[in-house]
Amino acid sequence: MPDETMTKQRDRMVRRQLEPRGITDQLVLAAMRETPRETFVPRDLRNRAYSDEALPIGMGQTISQPYIVAAILQALGLRGHERVLEVGTGSGYSAALLSRLAAHVVSVERLEPLVRRARRCLDTAGADNVEVIHGDGGRGWPAQAPYDAIAVHALAPELPQALVDQLAPGGRLVVPLRGYVGGVLTLFTRTESGGLEHRALDAVAFVPLISGASPADERTP
Ligand code: SAH
Repeated sequence: MPDETMTKQRDRMVRRQLEPRGITDQLVLAAMRETPRETFVPRDLRNRAYSDEALPIGMGQTISQPYIVAAILQALGLRGHERVLEVGTGSGYSAALLSRLAAHVVSVERLEPLVRRARRCLDTAGADNVEVIHGDGGRGWPAQAPYDAIAVHALAPELPQALVDQLAPGGRLVVPLRGYVGGVLTLFTRTESGGLEHRALDAVAFVPLISGASPADERTP
């Protein structure tokens, strides 16, 4: 499909899926208008690249629904100078958005085939300030801590303490936490004095964060 058509579809996505649901941060909206989601969607699903849904990317995982990514990004309140940690690279789409909103992005993914795929897609999209790392993001990535912002893209049973420990003073952490029904997107803010504040944002559906254990789905498809 020609680029112009995709640009129109992105504009429509912003007007119909994001703005009416309360995404108002102009930097986030601009990043969503400029980032080619079609680059991160499997070839046979590209005609649905701007539909209002998560789409399968293999290995039982999904590229997130645009609105959910936008809600996470808006909660992080990025202004361009931040060093960001992302847990759950998946397709690399949210990492590509982060790359436009922050100075440097470290993105950790536990499934190696997805790491390779995401690196390729991020190269194609020209996101050159993103490092994709193969590992258990539930433990964070201490080598480059502290981070001004941390985004978790998989449902966590509880707040991973390792991530809190890697948050800079004033830093923000957005994580979908398991609630009574589904997940609740939750924003944690580290205060300058070292305390932790939290606020529930939205009810959401996510694939699970698998941390610590050695799950059966490590195999390639
Ligand atoms: N934000 C991604 C979608 C992520 S789906 C996108 O825009 O495409 C969630 C991802 O989290 C999956 O790829 C899954 O493999 C990964 N994941 C789950 N637990 C993880 C962990 N402990 N560390 C790193 N990645 C994890």
